[in-house]
Parts: sequence; C-alpha cells; structure tokens
Amino acid sequence: MAFDTDLAGSPVGGASEERRSVGDLLICIDRAICVGFEDCITAAPGAFRLDAEGIATFSEPEGIERDRLLAACAACPVDALSVLDAAGRRILP
Ligand code: SF4
Repeated sequence: MAFDTDLAGSPVGGASEERRSVGDLLICIDRAICVGFEDCITAAPGAFRLDAEGIATFSEPEGIERDRLLAACAACPVDALSVLDAAGRRILP
C-alpha cells in the first residue's frame, strides 16, 4: 500500500496516531506529540478539533480546501501533523 511507509521506509502510523485520507492526501495526527496549541484548528476550522483530553483529532477535513489543510498541518509547532501524498511521499513536515 502506498501509505504504509514514508520516503525513508519508516513505518507510518503508531498506536498513538490517527490517520485520515482526504483527497490525494493522507493526514496523520500523532496524538503522543500533540500538546493542544490549536494552531491547526485556527488555520483550518472544521478540519480538526480538540477531544476531551485536549488533544487534536479529526473533525471534517474533507470539507476543507487542500491548500488550507496543508497550511493547517504546516502550522503545528511540534510537528504532530504529517502529510503523505498519494505516492506515499512525505509532504509535511
Ligand atoms: S497545532 Fe499541533 S499541537 Fe496544536 S492542536 Fe494541532 S496537532 Fe496539536
């Protein structure tokens, strides 16, 4: 499967990770890294939300335009959000 490894061949997706395919992107939230700063939510309201523990989870990223979604993922100050393209190449961070 295209989304199973990054460019270096490292596995993508641990027990703390949530993934969502959105168009040609695979977005991964590493919930072990997220510290709830909400920069991603500010950048793309509706794509992400904080759960009851104050950690980012998906909301409705399918409704967000691609460039805004990428900007939201790039905004994470601790690189908790990673993005792969359809070929499995890492776009962010
Ligand atoms: S910007 Fe990063 S640290 Fe902040 S809520 Fe989003 S994923 Fe978590």
